[in-house]
Amino acid sequence: MVGSSVDVEVFSGELNGNDARFPEEFDPAAVVLEALPQVVQNGEEKKSREIVLGRNVHRMCLAVTEPDADDEVTGDREAYMASVLARYRKSLIERTKHHLGYPYNLDFDYGALAQLQRFSINNLGDPFIESNYGVHSRQFEVGVLDWFARLWELEKNEYWGYITNCGTEGNLHGILVGREVFPDGVMYASQESHYSVFKAARMYRMECIKVDTLISGEIDCADFKAKLFLNKDKPAIINVNIGTTVKGAVDDLDLVIQTLEETGFTKEQFYIHCDGALFGLMMPFVKRAPKVTFKKPIGSVSVSGHKFVGCPMPCGVQITRLEHINALSRNVEYLASRDATIMGSRNGHAPIFLWYTLNRKGYRGFQKEVQKCLRNAHYLKDCLRAAGIGAMLNELSSTVVFERPQDEDFVRRWQLACQGNISHVVVMPNITIEKLNKFLNELVKKRSIWFKDGKVQPPCIAADIGKENCGCALHL
Ligand SMILES: *Cc1c(COP(=O)(O)O)cnc(C)c1O
Repeated sequence: MVGSSVDVEVFSGELNGNDARFPEEFDPAAVVLEALPQVVQNGEEKKSREIVLGRNVHRMCLAVTEPDADDEVTGDREAYMASVLARYRKSLIERTKHHLGYPYNLDFDYGALAQLQRFSINNLGDPFIESNYGVHSRQFEVGVLDWFARLWELEKNEYWGYITNCGTEGNLHGILVGREVFPDGVMYASQESHYSVFKAARMYRMECIKVDTLISGEIDCADFKAKLFLNKDKPAIINVNIGTTVKGAVDDLDLVIQTLEETGFTKEQFYIHCDGALFGLMMPFVKRAPKVTFKKPIGSVSVSGHKFVGCPMPCGVQITRLEHINALSRNVEYLASRDATIMGSRNGHAPIFLWYTLNRKGYRGFQKEVQKCLRNAHYLKDCLRAAGIGAMLNELSSTVVFERPQDEDFVRRWQLACQGNISHVVVMPNITIEKLNKFLNELVKKRSIWFKDGKVQPPCIAADIGKENCGCALHL
């Protein structure tokens, strides 16, 4: 049952709630610390892989055409536009069905909110101060923020936050708050941090030190300590990942704090921003995960709203301490408000969508969905390994990392995110066993073609996911 001889119908399994294998494998204390031996490489593999850019959109662009003088009479224009939209809708349905690679929960029903489409809802300015613009949704926004502040254990009168446009805006804000608190601070972020973290450092012209990672993708605190020692005279601003983008690794917040303390940094000398864009709302439900809480000396937490929660428009949540925000904000007479956000105008629909889901699912609902995601992720990893395909799944994660498929059409069909020789599936609530089976069957079938005559071999990805997880000829 290994390699290309696998029957393509093999993946039809289902998981029931009593899968005994699951809890045992689920040991958050187990981290691979063992240093890996050099991977044997031939000359060809040493060449760095070229970045494959997406297709040029201009070739399929829908040009804007000017209306004819009599269009209003004939109705031709209306009919043309309706047909374009109908075709587009159809393609969205198809593309939604074959989406696996990006961490977006595409499974939601906001039909009840369709009635709000015709309002220009804008929360510009501070969520807690009503501006003169009255078509806003602050009552929903603050309700959502209160929920998150409670989740991360910060009192109502001690927190500040807002609904952002995305996880990136949360990072830009959190790191900016850190820099305003410590203008001469040095930023530290693991090299597997999201690109928005390094973008923030460039935008704010901050000195930024990249810290090594373990094979799991977690920050390597030994390297962190060594690098802290080199800059002991300057305050530290640290980005802690609650789920890295590629491997879904959760940095050990407690160990990061301990490392700071051991190096002689007091609470008055460091600022921690937690990038929870991916996993910030899933972690609280994972047993024994290092808890994200403002009872620990952290400065801010951000999370994406369109990832695990699911939302038709990108959005996010940013929570920080009220005491910090005073350093950042300016009063703006034109708005009769305070300016402490990155953006000016802010999407007023997004808070209503988040509020709607929080009310419908609640804490319990998310808990169940997280459980389902983790189970399905284990299922995917086990099936990949059973088919002889190298794959890794971190404890505390629903991101399954595996070898990059050989052909870009397959990558595009399933909308897989790739980096070097690896690819991943982020198992969100819309990724069902049925969908995974379909994907697995297609992958196994394709592999039997790609690797048919043995001229092309599955890539060695031991350096990315550890030799015990690799499925190449050497490590299988
Ligand atoms: C997705 C992601 C981001 C950025 O979020 P956007 O909403 O895409 O801007 C930041 N950090 C991590 C770890 C992410 O996975």
